[in-house]
Amino acid sequence: ENFIMTKSVALITGASSGMGKAAAIQFNNAGYTVYAGARHMEPMTELEQQGIHTMKLDVTDHDSNKAFVDAALENEGRIDVLINNAGYGSMGAVEDVDQAEAKRQFDVNVFGAADLIQLVLPTMRAQHAGKILNNSSIGGQMYSPLGGWYYASKHALEALSDSLRLEVKDFGIDVIIIEPGGTKTNWQQVAADHMLEATPKESPYRQMVEIYANASMNFSATADDIAHLMFKAATTVNPKTRYQLSWGDRAVV
Ligand code: NDP
Repeated sequence: ENFIMTKSVALITGASSGMGKAAAIQFNNAGYTVYAGARHMEPMTELEQQGIHTMKLDVTDHDSNKAFVDAALENEGRIDVLINNAGYGSMGAVEDVDQAEAKRQFDVNVFGAADLIQLVLPTMRAQHAGKILNNSSIGGQMYSPLGGWYYASKHALEALSDSLRLEVKDFGIDVIIIEPGGTKTNWQQVAADHMLEATPKESPYRQMVEIYANASMNFSATADDIAHLMFKAATTVNPKTRYQLSWGDRAVV
């Protein structure tokens, strides 16, 4: 019989480490054509060697996002899955974190994802198919001290996702929120560094920040667990709105 097997195409942001890198490997191993983007190319050499397309990507730069989406479209002619994974935790007291840093975090965690969503939607609508996975956090549903700006960004990402889901449902597009709990990646160190930097020595929050920054969290989940969750979400017909891995849980593979 003559038929053409088209491989499904997945775009993954923040693929130079942690969950994004693990997801790029899992989707590639499962037969997807994967486009992996991040600001740092060097850590993605390993992905390139496995046949994954790696591209320099800064999600806060519209031209960079457009080049990423255009490359996939020009080479493959379709986009099946977009995983908005790039993000970081700019922790610190609400009073201490300056506005410029708070906005930078929103630029990555919210506006970066939103820009890529706007770029892929015309293609997904034309295909009458597509999955958009937004990697939020359990912090998209809960709160604790020193996370105000981070949680605000993840709550915003979730609200955007929930409204979008209703808008694009009839176009055959699923919008799925991933909510990891604490997971062993670079995230915690990045968050601690931001928190210490945002907090002057004389800050009334300094002692609280040092306790949090030096706390050993003993996260049990791994980047592979979350990648597995993403894969399950992307390959399930009629997926749930949220795939959550509670604090201390491991994915059931
Ligand atoms: P990592 O720090 O290991 O990975 C973050 C990735 O985001 C890196 O690849 C980084 O690449 C990328 N990134 C950051 N800024 C940008 C940018 N402007 N443009 C493109 N890529 C960017 O952490 P995780 O794997 O843990 O984080 C992945 C997601 O999971 C984040 O959204 C995070 O908020 C979320 N999360 C993490 C949890 C955890 O405990 N680890 C818990 C809940 C949610 P580069 O620097 O090369 O650009």
